[in-house]
Amino acid sequence: MNRITSLLTIVCQIATLTVAHAQDRGTLHPQPLLPLANPKDPNLAAKELFGRKMQPARLAARSVGFYSNGCLAGAVALPVNGANWQVMRLSRNRNWGHPNLVRFLERFAQKAHKVGWNGLLVGDMSQPRGGPMYTGHASHQVGLDADIWLTPMPNRELTRKEREEMSATMVVAEARRDVDPKVWKPSYTALLKTAASQPEVQRIFVNPAIKKELCREAGSDRGWLTKMRPMWGHDHHFHIRLHCPTDEPECRPQESPDGGEGCGTDLDWWFREAIIHPPPEPPKPRPPLRMADLPLACGQVLAAP
Ligand SMILES: [Zn+2]
Repeated sequence: MNRITSLLTIVCQIATLTVAHAQDRGTLHPQPLLPLANPKDPNLAAKELFGRKMQPARLAARSVGFYSNGCLAGAVALPVNGANWQVMRLSRNRNWGHPNLVRFLERFAQKAHKVGWNGLLVGDMSQPRGGPMYTGHASHQVGLDADIWLTPMPNRELTRKEREEMSATMVVAEARRDVDPKVWKPSYTALLKTAASQPEVQRIFVNPAIKKELCREAGSDRGWLTKMRPMWGHDHHFHIRLHCPTDEPECRPQESPDGGEGCGTDLDWWFREAIIHPPPEPPKPRPPLRMADLPLACGQVLAAP
């Protein structure tokens, strides 16, 4: 590889990491996106349109499409402060969800508190109308996904600045094969087990090193491990995905995890050298979703008052 190519590779990787990273800081002075010159352009990325909607569609609540290809009508906001939670990165305006998700988080925050987790720091949920996001996630499009920080809520109300600038706790050790024993505590297992044990939860994404630790600590009650799915990243936060609401045919469900606990050799693939330390290849950017790639009803969700 010549020098320019390798330099470009590094720049691309840094750009990708910056975009995909949960540790992105927010700002106290978010700038609105500039108006689009041609919002009707069929080749326009749908994230440009959904990213400019600051309010939910005033329609009955419904999730349309798939977690990574859809949108959300009638979203509600999770209040930024609750008895057992606080919302982080308020400048991102991503504390919106299907009412099922908002109610779920309120209940789950209380349950987490009861198992020794002081409270939830809630990261990204969805945009006001769901849809593809400008930065960060492929999913979170239908209002049924939420990121929760692997940091317990402190015993005080965080300031606006802290909510934009504080970092979540890195629980994976430097070698990426295990959790960091200096950081990991039994309360993490209690929290994640509680999350996975809720019937509304379809699956939870965690770093493979976290899944490995949960497999070690689960003991004889292991059914909940099925829902804990290993995934890249997810070393500072975990990602809760809820089932499609039962009475919403436009919400496309995801196949349930296969029922195995996914421990032991099932995790080997994730710890291969090439997966833990991937070679420095430039990531191939996937073409962004256009409106024509999303369910037709998302056009109505976008256009609604
Ligand atoms: Zn997520």
